[in-house]
Amino acid sequence: TDPTSIHREKESMSNAANRLRSGAEQFTFQAEVTRMMDIIINSLYSNKDIFLRELISNASDALDKIRFLSLTDKSQLGEGEVANLEIRIWLDKDGKTLYIRDRGIGMTKDDLIKNLGTIAKSGTSAFLEQMQKGGDMNLIGQFGVGFYSVYLVADYVEVVSKHNDDKQYIWASTADGSFTISEDTENGELGRGTLLKIHLKEEAQEYATEAKLRELVQRYSEFINFPIYIQTEKE
Ligand code: ADP
Ligand code: MG
Repeated sequence: TDPTSIHREKESMSNAANRLRSGAEQFTFQAEVTRMMDIIINSLYSNKDIFLRELISNASDALDKIRFLSLTDKSQLGEGEVANLEIRIWLDKDGKTLYIRDRGIGMTKDDLIKNLGTIAKSGTSAFLEQMQKGGDMNLIGQFGVGFYSVYLVADYVEVVSKHNDDKQYIWASTADGSFTISEDTENGELGRGTLLKIHLKEEAQEYATEAKLRELVQRYSEFINFPIYIQTEKE
């Protein structure tokens, strides 16, 4: 089957959020990605903390990329924007959604489709094999599939992203074998970068406190070259 084949969104009872977006296009994850996500979302692995390390590392990579690009093309960064190369983390009021926002390079629509699901990475099958042999979830980043560790703590994730070369899009998935892409008309303008909206599982509520986030950020930000701010209640 063609992993990038596009299905027009059909009514999907399993995905209320996608149902709300009428213009959404639905995509099928590459088969091994689906299997890997299945393992992750159902994992009883106790050290779920690592998801934050992986997401911070992706935010940091994205910031490195825009900074590098701006060395040869100053117009890639807005005026005075060097100071904005940062990562912000906050919780919604009821503590059910965790937000991570970076001012990095962002992803075009095409990037979202390819990087988050449809293009097979060599590490996917290697990681799957390791997990089936009882390997350590902690090593997920070394296989180049660290993003998916978000499903250790989430049952629904939205990735809102804006790249300089494209409009703002939303990638969304409940890890049910498919994801949707839609043009973003609901989050306001990001400017540039990526906002992750992480809908926490019932059993991952421990990540819904500022104190816990602070502890983890302290542990995982040691080698991050950009400021990370934990905000109290935004939105
Ligand atoms: P890796 O970071 O090892 O490449 P991941 O699974 O963590 O693997 O991420 C997959 C890809 O998704 C990244 O290579 C990058 O292209 C894209 N990506 C993930 N998070 C972000 C982000 N915050 N900003 C821009 N691109 C991102
Ligand atoms: Mg990564």
